[in-house]
Amino acid sequence: MARRTGAHSPWRRPVPRAHALAATGLALTLGLALGLWPEAHSISEEGTELADPAPEVIPAPSPLSATPSAALTSIPAVPEPSPWRSLTVRPGESLARIFQREGISARALAALMASGALAKRLADLRPGDQLELREENGTLLGFRFRPSRLETLTFTRDSEDASRFGAEQELRSPTVTERTAQVVIEDALFLAAQKAGLDDRLALALAEIFQWDIDFVLDIRRSDRFELLYEEQSLDGEVIGTGAILAARFVNRGEVFEAVRYEDSAGNGSYYTPEGRSLRKAFLRAPVQFTRISSNFNLRRKHPLWNTARPHRGIDYAAPTGTPVVAAGDGKVVKATRNAPSGNYVVLQHGERYQTKYLHLSRFAKSLKAGRRVKQGQVIGYVGSTGWATGPHLHYEFLVGGAHQNPRTVALPKADPIAPEAKADFTRLALARLAALPSAQRLALNGTKPARHETP
Ligand SMILES: [Zn+2]
Repeated sequence: MARRTGAHSPWRRPVPRAHALAATGLALTLGLALGLWPEAHSISEEGTELADPAPEVIPAPSPLSATPSAALTSIPAVPEPSPWRSLTVRPGESLARIFQREGISARALAALMASGALAKRLADLRPGDQLELREENGTLLGFRFRPSRLETLTFTRDSEDASRFGAEQELRSPTVTERTAQVVIEDALFLAAQKAGLDDRLALALAEIFQWDIDFVLDIRRSDRFELLYEEQSLDGEVIGTGAILAARFVNRGEVFEAVRYEDSAGNGSYYTPEGRSLRKAFLRAPVQFTRISSNFNLRRKHPLWNTARPHRGIDYAAPTGTPVVAAGDGKVVKATRNAPSGNYVVLQHGERYQTKYLHLSRFAKSLKAGRRVKQGQVIGYVGSTGWATGPHLHYEFLVGGAHQNPRTVALPKADPIAPEAKADFTRLALARLAALPSAQRLALNGTKPARHETP
């Protein structure tokens, strides 16, 4: 009954953060200094290029505070600034520890940490992060941290009050390119995505889009397939990650589900069917965090127990002990207690008519008590094998008006549609985005047989 756990759950892996080297940092600094200095590189009316100031006379590289006029007037006097030096955060090291290792004073650290809200980000250092610092005669003049390729935090000692540091945040915008992918699932969703060269974040985002329609724990079958139109982000010509999924089509056991992203005026994206109905629904298909369940689950197994010979009024989700169990819908905790057959169990009430039950939990979520409200997707407990259970699994029941129903077939309230005023705009967008999916393009190309795996 129990499946093997994905101890190395790939989708939990942090997205690797790349960092520019010190040399790049210096080049960037120079580039920025020059960029802030447009008049130094202007073209005269005759078309003759005016002489550039020699790069070595550029004053201290604090590009965001140096003004062009100051730079120009101080050309002969300012010596070459001390260079930025890069270092790597080692496992278990805090900034205090690093500064100690580098022989930088505790006073400098205190001044740096007192420079405002951006300094709080320095508590997030991770092993492998690249830092840069610039010092002169043992005095820290500048410090730099890049939390991501898109963000640089620079701390510069104040030229007027040397006991203080100023902090600057520089954000870059990635170049966004639309990409498509078409994937046939041969083993499991995440494996198929990986084989197609898609990152795990994208596979997870896809599963989240369809989590109200498709049970990603029990319902994925061999030859299920999906297509995506998504954003790829790149910086300086290098791919650095993926952005939003703009449109998706998932064929699950022959049934076609489609989703199109639509952003409201505030920029919040939601997914809708091509007809403009929200994909969000009152109940999730699977009340377990499917991302935590092994990607190697057996696709050939029979459909879960429902109306089998053995009287059974629910659905069993075999999952490793400790897998988070989530509330299928917004509701209120009626019971969070235990008895002999059910072990630790939770009963949720959703409005007047609906109730859900979660049995055999190893434990409850912290602070879960009768009377508390819960949100859809909120963790309420963890899979276990308490009570009459042969192995770790969640036994899930769904009741309508007090009677057990199969949540997979019961009629549920329809989702909210897109706002009427946005309907025309949405329909235009939906048609364009769905037409951009690979199979649609192939249909247009005279029915060429689609590739099994297409990497962008
Ligand atoms: Zn059961």
